[in-house]
Amino acid sequence: MKHYVSLSDKALDFINAEEISRTLEYAKEHKNDKGLIADIMSKAREKNGLYHEEAAVLLLNNDPEVTSEIKALAEEIKLAYYGNRIVLFAPLYLSNFCINGCIYCPYHAKNKQIPRLKMTQEQIADEVRALQKMGHKRLALEAGEDPKNNPLEYILESIATIYGVHEEGVIRRVNVNIAATTIENYKRLHAAKIGTYILFQETYNKKDYEKLHPRGPKSDYLWHTEAMDRAMQGGFEDVGLGVLFGLHSYEYELVGLLMHAEHLEAVYGAGPHTISVPRLRPADDIDVSSFKNALPDDVFLKLIALLRVAVPYTGMIMSTRESEHIRKEALSLGISQISGGSKTTVGGYANQNAAIDNSAQFEVSDNRTLDEVVRWLMECGHVPSFCTACYGSGRQGVDFMEICKRKQIHHYCTRNALLTLMEYVNKYASPETRRIGTALLDHELDKLPSKTADELITRIDTTTNEIKFF
Ligand code: SAM
Repeated sequence: MKHYVSLSDKALDFINAEEISRTLEYAKEHKNDKGLIADIMSKAREKNGLYHEEAAVLLLNNDPEVTSEIKALAEEIKLAYYGNRIVLFAPLYLSNFCINGCIYCPYHAKNKQIPRLKMTQEQIADEVRALQKMGHKRLALEAGEDPKNNPLEYILESIATIYGVHEEGVIRRVNVNIAATTIENYKRLHAAKIGTYILFQETYNKKDYEKLHPRGPKSDYLWHTEAMDRAMQGGFEDVGLGVLFGLHSYEYELVGLLMHAEHLEAVYGAGPHTISVPRLRPADDIDVSSFKNALPDDVFLKLIALLRVAVPYTGMIMSTRESEHIRKEALSLGISQISGGSKTTVGGYANQNAAIDNSAQFEVSDNRTLDEVVRWLMECGHVPSFCTACYGSGRQGVDFMEICKRKQIHHYCTRNALLTLMEYVNKYASPETRRIGTALLDHELDKLPSKTADELITRIDTTTNEIKFF
């Protein structure tokens, strides 16, 4: 099948619905074609990725041996590109005021029972102090879409507040997940020195998208789908894609997601910096059983492995929407970033009261503290990382991708992960986590040339909270 990729920045071209149907028909017809599967798997083993047409065939194939091979390869690819580090972050909800009508989200404007909260700059600073106390260095900013309550000026002021709090530590990277906006606004957001601009597509299926978003600015499928092009035209080099699995069929979404990634890479020279894999969760007035496309765990895990194989150079993010059990499995299938100690409430890190508790966007499945997550990661053989180096040292967009595609990024990742773990263990960890962390650091540092190990400790300045990253 001839590979389709569109250089046009029009959504109906780069997420061409006929191409998705054609791909799925082709995959259905060839899903048991042993010769084709063998060819695709041998291309996959080169670790340079797969086209959406090829990934779709593997997705529809049901041979358990092929699935096992995809999963094993996904783990190999993650290790080859990124090493054994897992990056940690936390979401920070600024405001749940929203004028949209997203059927799956409790922040939708018609929900009159959810407490509407918007943090002041002082409250944001309190949240940041609480997050810093836990040891967090990287945040994902979240807010509902509401031009009156949450204008871009509010988001920009909040970013400045977050970067400005230097008490229990420092937040070194803020990623932002806010609604699709104009090129002009993306330029202003980019100038605020944020890391990645993240926006979930929710679903790539236009018809279902329109049903799921009946009102508000987000109801415009084209405006939403073309947002990443505008973000890149506005100066962003790193953007994060995602689909909310459970809204439409996972087969359609996988093809759409890969077509989007291929389009960005073809036009801007860099595919998505990250791909998130959220699944629909119960929430305030949201009954998940009314959605008919729930993604079962086994299919979800295969899909994660396939994404890792198809876009080996892209970071993959899993949030606390997933349980400890699923997160453990997914970490061995290519997930490279997870959140820890998360609250999806507005103001819930620093304070708890009924209004704050009830302001949550969705129920989390992993309620462990950051310290518990860090300890667990180490016990599972991963190196927890609070690294934010690539952003600070200009390794972004095309530059990042070039190093990553040469499978060189893990040299940076490993050393920077150890640096930040050293900082975490010394400053934030509980005694038990410190004990395990110290042993892990000794073990991992032994693998490095000795000069690097000695040098590491000199790169942390505990008085200024500065780290000299590699
Ligand atoms: N207002 C922005 C927007 O519209 O893109 C910010 C997004 S919201 C704070 C973050 C994401 O949460 C959404 O893009 C959606 O995918 C996800 N989300 C919403 N409702 C959810 C639910 N019930 N379960 C799981 N994830 C949900």
